[in-house]
Amino acid sequence: MHVVVLGGGFGGVAVVRRLERLVRRRPDVRITLVSRENFTLLTPLLFEACSGRLELRHCAQPIRAVLRRARFIEASVDTVDVERRIVRATASDGTPHDVPYHQLVVALGGSTNERLIPGSTHALTFKTVADALLLRNHLIAQFERADAAADQDARRGCLRVVVIGGGLVGVELIGELTAFADDVLRFYPRLRRDEIAFHLFEAGPRILPEIDASLADTAARVLRGRGVDIQAGTAVREVAPGRIRLESGALEAGTVVLTAGIVPNAVAAAVPVARDGRGRIAVDATMRSRSHADIWALGDCASIPDRDGKPYPALAQHAVREARHLARNLAAVADGRPPTAFVFRSLGSMAALGHTQAVARVFGVRLTGIVAWWLRRTYYLFQMPRWDRRLRIVLDWTVALFFRPDITRVDLRSEREQTRADSADRPRADVRPVAVAQGR
Ligand SMILES: Cc1cc2nc3c(=O)[nH]c(=O)nc-3n(C[C@H](O)[C@H](O)[C@H](O)COP(=O)(O)OP(=O)(O)OC[C@H]3O[C@@H](n4cnc5c(N)ncnc54)[C@H](O)[C@@H]3O)c2cc1C
Repeated sequence: MHVVVLGGGFGGVAVVRRLERLVRRRPDVRITLVSRENFTLLTPLLFEACSGRLELRHCAQPIRAVLRRARFIEASVDTVDVERRIVRATASDGTPHDVPYHQLVVALGGSTNERLIPGSTHALTFKTVADALLLRNHLIAQFERADAAADQDARRGCLRVVVIGGGLVGVELIGELTAFADDVLRFYPRLRRDEIAFHLFEAGPRILPEIDASLADTAARVLRGRGVDIQAGTAVREVAPGRIRLESGALEAGTVVLTAGIVPNAVAAAVPVARDGRGRIAVDATMRSRSHADIWALGDCASIPDRDGKPYPALAQHAVREARHLARNLAAVADGRPPTAFVFRSLGSMAALGHTQAVARVFGVRLTGIVAWWLRRTYYLFQMPRWDRRLRIVLDWTVALFFRPDITRVDLRSEREQTRADSADRPRADVRPVAVAQGR
């Protein structure tokens, strides 16, 4: 039996790792993982990677380091031919890969929903390592621009940050950005804290719908205490370069980040199998496709019914639990046993707010402040599968505790362009030949 898993995120890698163990005495079961990047991104650590508290690479785990016997193919999945049971993928150098399968697991995740608000492509997004690097560079550039600006209006324009979407990602992001701004301000003596404005817009009735209302209220209080303007029940109508439009008028902003929900990954949405109204792959409680018995799906691209028939939320803690159960079901299929239903009750929820603050409910216990913050950090630290990565993260956190923040803006693209421009064969008015003296 050949099991092919698509997507090396939380769900895909957890399926492969658990299945490797379950079928370790079954050499006839082959496992192949296909993913676009050669690492798994630990998204809950992405906020601190953006602010520089954590080295960017350290919030990712190289996939090959955690695999035992599965084959890994670094390639972008293009299509799935469900009739011939072949996955077609392309490596970054253009090399095509046709991967035949007996059982296929789709764990391709989701992407930021850019269809909800017109002009969304003008906003920054926050989902990938590249997003974190771009946002970090953009924010530092805005500080530099504000520092050089002649008048206060221009300064305020550069220093206005808008986050669209008050779910877990939007709230955690704005919390970390307030902390980032407070930390880096010491490098910009011309700028005042009250010139930096943070706005969080949420179309729904309250922020943090993923966690209970009392914790969401606490989070809102903490953020408002740092000057964040939180507007729930306020839909952003349009995004334009450097500006958003609300029902009440336009708002200029140097930084606009879109975190207003996700849609299933485009390739997963194009696999010709049954799907739900939101385009996610529709599976039964065993995570098997409702239309194709040899296709399974989990995580953000799947609609897995809970006991009440409602889909499980798109969260990492669910994706990992789903993955372990799905691996057991694949092992059962290999043994000729029937798969079983996935049932999971969340252990709790946590949201970091920056500045050693967080809110959490774990096993029904409500936690806030530094205790919740420490618990969240420790929990996600141990989600990193290997000790070498964990140690690097702890070192980064320790350094960040004692030293000033790093405001180096490494922009590989512009550096390369600059180097090319400098070395280009063109007349340079400002460079005159200089006679070099020979001897004394
Ligand atoms: C910033 C941020 C913070 C978050 N914080 C939390 C949190 O604190 N707690 C929590 O529970 N959840 C959190 N989440 C949600 C969590 O990250 C997702 O629910 C989880 O990653 C879903 O796992 P997945 O395996 O379905 O998808 P992903 O982890 O997104 O993995 C999908 C994989 O598929 C790969 N892929 C995509 N397209 C292709 C293609 N065409 N070809 C090949 N490979 C492809 C991707 O590169 C990726 O490796 C957060 C999300 C974000 C963005």
